[in-house]
Amino acid sequence: MTRVAIIGSTGSIGVNTLRVMDALAPDYQVAALAAHSSTQELAAQVARYRPRAVALGDASRVEQFERDCAAEGVQVPPTLVGETGLRELGGMDGSDIVVSAVVGAAGLAPTHAALAAGKTVALANKEAMVIAGELLRSTAETHGGSILPVDSEHNAIHQCLRAGAPREVRRLILTASGGPFLDRPAAAFDGITPDEALDHPTWKMGPRITIDSATLMNKGFEVIEARWLFDFEPSAIDIVVHPQSIVHSMVEFVDGSIMAQMGTADMRGPIQYALTYPRRAASAVARLDWSSIPALEFRLPDRDRFPAVGLAYEAIAMGGTAPAVLNAADEVAVDAFLEGRIAFTDMARIIGGVLSAHAPSTPDSVEQVLAADRWARNRAREAAGSVSGAR
Ligand code: MG
Repeated sequence: MTRVAIIGSTGSIGVNTLRVMDALAPDYQVAALAAHSSTQELAAQVARYRPRAVALGDASRVEQFERDCAAEGVQVPPTLVGETGLRELGGMDGSDIVVSAVVGAAGLAPTHAALAAGKTVALANKEAMVIAGELLRSTAETHGGSILPVDSEHNAIHQCLRAGAPREVRRLILTASGGPFLDRPAAAFDGITPDEALDHPTWKMGPRITIDSATLMNKGFEVIEARWLFDFEPSAIDIVVHPQSIVHSMVEFVDGSIMAQMGTADMRGPIQYALTYPRRAASAVARLDWSSIPALEFRLPDRDRFPAVGLAYEAIAMGGTAPAVLNAADEVAVDAFLEGRIAFTDMARIIGGVLSAHAPSTPDSVEQVLAADRWARNRAREAAGSVSGAR
């Protein structure tokens, strides 16, 4: 019996995790659930899965949660509240695997707490690894915890790495769909509107990650994630554009052989892999249909039109708090672009400026990472303000 805590159980990864667990029952049991503010959904999950405890990130929603539990005809389980509640639930006794699926920097503290308690973390929260990958890696090593990636590219690499020993690997190859501006000429980049950038050709996602996919910053973040998840130098991590998104990523070995992980795009695949590793189990995920598969294309990313890629490598080279600064400055720049205050090409300029003004330090706590995050946000807001003032 494997006991699973889900931090972010009402979001899309959380809901898909519960679907996967339904299929894996009775070998997997829900131990604890946490949500930010979706009390009605959380109460319905409590009625169905009977967790031993829950956490609610938004303290002002506790009374509503109690009413929602009453409406579901279920007793209110022990309820932890606020940021500290999420953190406590992450490290709490009674779970073997913690699925970390909160969006944003809020996912860092519970992920860190779970690893400090020696648990296995199925990690869907990208920011945690981007802003504090080195800290999370060393925490896991010290306390005997482990991290299994749910992000589809890293999940693919985890699978491919099983084909050889670490010293037999030449490089990790992350595939990127390339976003909507793959073929747009450089001269037209200044005129890109938020609506165009939000119209991603293959994926329907939240606004920030959609813009990050259009600039390729998302792939830059994934290079940082891969660096810490798998402990490879950035020079051994490459990006290849693959618009069909069927090859989810690859690993090249020293003898030139390349392993690729392929499949349909369904997050239940990576989630189930993380829950059942090192085993595999039958799944309801759709099979690739060879009779209708498109031609597969691969090409190198254009770093001139997509300067975000270079910024991500620069942040890793700077080390310490620099990736946290990259992430925070990007979030502010994306907001300013979506609000029409700055141009598409201003985003990389602002992020690059904040990054070069940063003197990185090596963080040994979550608090130090979050302090760098705040510094970068302020700096990026000032920069965005002066760009929009000048326009
Ligand atoms: Mg991804």
